[in-house]
Amino acid sequence: MSSRASGETAAPVPAPRELDIADLASESVIIFDTAGVIQYWNPASEALYGWPALAMVGRGIGHLSSRTADEDEHWRLLVQEGVWQGLVSRRTPSGAMVAADVRQYVRFNNDGTPRDVVEYGQRSSSDAAGDGADWHIPDRKMAASWEIDIGGALQKIGEIAAFRRTGAAADRALLNTLGLELVQATRIIDVNDRVMRLVGGNRGRELLVGQSVASFWPIESRTALADLIVDAVTGGTPDVTYRRQMPSDGILRDPLVTVWLPGDGGPPNRVLVAVNGTADDDRSFLYLRASEARYRKLVQFMPMALWQVDASHMGKIYAELRGQGVTDFGAYLDEHPDLIELAANTVPVTDVNRAAVEMFGAAGALDLMRPVGYLFTEMPEALRNVMIGRFNGQQNHAEPIKVRTLDGRVLDVQFSITYPKPPAELDVTVFSMVDVTERLSIAAELRQLQADFAHAARISTLGELASSIAHEVNQPLAAIVTNAETSLRWLSRGEPNVEKAKELTARIAASGRRANEIVQRIRGMAAKRSPERVALDLNEVVRESLGFVRHEVESRGIRVTADLGRDLPPAKGDRVQLQQVIVNLLVNAVQALEAASEADREILIGTGLGSDGALNVMLRDTGPGIPPDDLDRIFDGFFTTKEEGVGIGLAICQSIIAEHGGAIAASNPAAGGAAFRFSLPVSE
Ligand code: ADP
Repeated sequence: MSSRASGETAAPVPAPRELDIADLASESVIIFDTAGVIQYWNPASEALYGWPALAMVGRGIGHLSSRTADEDEHWRLLVQEGVWQGLVSRRTPSGAMVAADVRQYVRFNNDGTPRDVVEYGQRSSSDAAGDGADWHIPDRKMAASWEIDIGGALQKIGEIAAFRRTGAAADRALLNTLGLELVQATRIIDVNDRVMRLVGGNRGRELLVGQSVASFWPIESRTALADLIVDAVTGGTPDVTYRRQMPSDGILRDPLVTVWLPGDGGPPNRVLVAVNGTADDDRSFLYLRASEARYRKLVQFMPMALWQVDASHMGKIYAELRGQGVTDFGAYLDEHPDLIELAANTVPVTDVNRAAVEMFGAAGALDLMRPVGYLFTEMPEALRNVMIGRFNGQQNHAEPIKVRTLDGRVLDVQFSITYPKPPAELDVTVFSMVDVTERLSIAAELRQLQADFAHAARISTLGELASSIAHEVNQPLAAIVTNAETSLRWLSRGEPNVEKAKELTARIAASGRRANEIVQRIRGMAAKRSPERVALDLNEVVRESLGFVRHEVESRGIRVTADLGRDLPPAKGDRVQLQQVIVNLLVNAVQALEAASEADREILIGTGLGSDGALNVMLRDTGPGIPPDDLDRIFDGFFTTKEEGVGIGLAICQSIIAEHGGAIAASNPAAGGAAFRFSLPVSE
């Protein structure tokens, strides 16, 4: 305690726990320092004497006593004797006197010097006005007390006082506006616990201090409060109280508001306000406190990072804008980016949990309890989205965003926000963030692995097609050789036939180009490249894929029938990946047909547009079909029934088609054999 002389021995300060218990005592408990200055004043003292702790702590009890002169003498005796018991008479804010039976004990330090005085008291049984009924409910009787700074409101106070004198006070509307402005211009110096519980939400006291009273005072009774402040200031006498019953405001029932100037000779421009009334919530103080503690614990230890945010003043701005007819808030924000700036700089974070402190690498919660702007430095557009969600009356909003932590890391987080539901008593918006940085990097690694895998599978398919490829490249090469030889013969005649040689040379060039095309196509399949999405002619992709397996098909006497739909819209996809899918299905069909007699080897391939607007590719063979038990396993990785099989072909087909936004399925048609069908979205 500040007034105590330094250099004292043993720790004399009452333990906080001791005071916690005294807070709940039904008896008045007051602690004085040895000079008689009040150090502590419990809720029961507030109830008994009517003065809030804010008004009493730091003052001598003498000014409540009718015989001030006796008080000093009494104090001297008490410190000498160590204990005193008797009847005291003290003044309440209304000016009435209350009689109380009190017991005063001096507590001593280890070295025998007096430490402080504890007084226990209760209304004297001789006091007629006694109503003991509320003794056991300290919170109901405890005033919500405010110490406020009216320095910034002096001009408004002067204006209202002047209006009263000139009779212009009849203009209620004007007076009302002035009253609202007056309260707006006041600042909170301190409040007691009850104010915190009633209007503070989960804010810490330090976040209320310095704010305007208007931010917390119900709008219905703000002008009435202004009136009382003007009364007290124009009255000018300290400790003279002005009170008024105010309408219920959703927080307190029939609150009684008392305003006075403090008589403690402290700094100027201070006004004390005490509000008495029963909380509109019928649950008891202890019940609320327990449930709040449970709730706080729950939130505190939740593994998800949580921010509690008070965007009430933005809510008011939105309401005004709606009133002005603004409907497209996104467009409005584009024209008024300063509003986003305002939100970033003025919407305070009022509480955070441990997970948030950890996620942001903060030293403590206070580091994060400042305007929300720091959450959106990496992605200012996310704040814009948050504001639009609230404006549009959404209940929630979620999006993946990037945030920069206090120690400079950039995290990928899944961000979501729950807006207050009107008409909420407390404007509490909750932000939550889950760090998905690791999850995203695993997903990226997985995508890379899958791509590598698909690439490996393509190479292995090309390996399987080696003879086909050799055959295909051989054809133009053979043609080149033949044509070159013939051309040579024409030229080496007695009379060279230049015309013939020209014709043959043109054919050689064409064959060369053809060979080059084949090599390019195979290179495309073999190259490692990232996929691209372009508009493709699906039938062309099918024809190219057939080119890969032509030799395979011809050498085995397989008949291929292509039934390609006409005038199909372009597909959207990656050419090489789609070729890979079709070639895979064709190779499987060719392999399945080994089991069939040569006369029955047939592959049907078709394309078309489904009734659902998606493109379809259908491929059927006349092989043995897929054993029904295997039907739902063939797309699994490493499922194979072949001796030399690896079992990744269909797994890759499925992942490629899924990545394209389509679906693939296998079936055994009634006519026999196996059928595969996949769909692909149309390119817009
Ligand atoms: P692999 O060809 O290496 O076995 P796939 O994933 O391409 O790997 O095929 C998996 C399995 O699906 C094959 O082993 C086979 O049992 C079955 N399968 C695929 N295509 C056909 C088909 N056209 N007819 C019958 N069974 C097939």
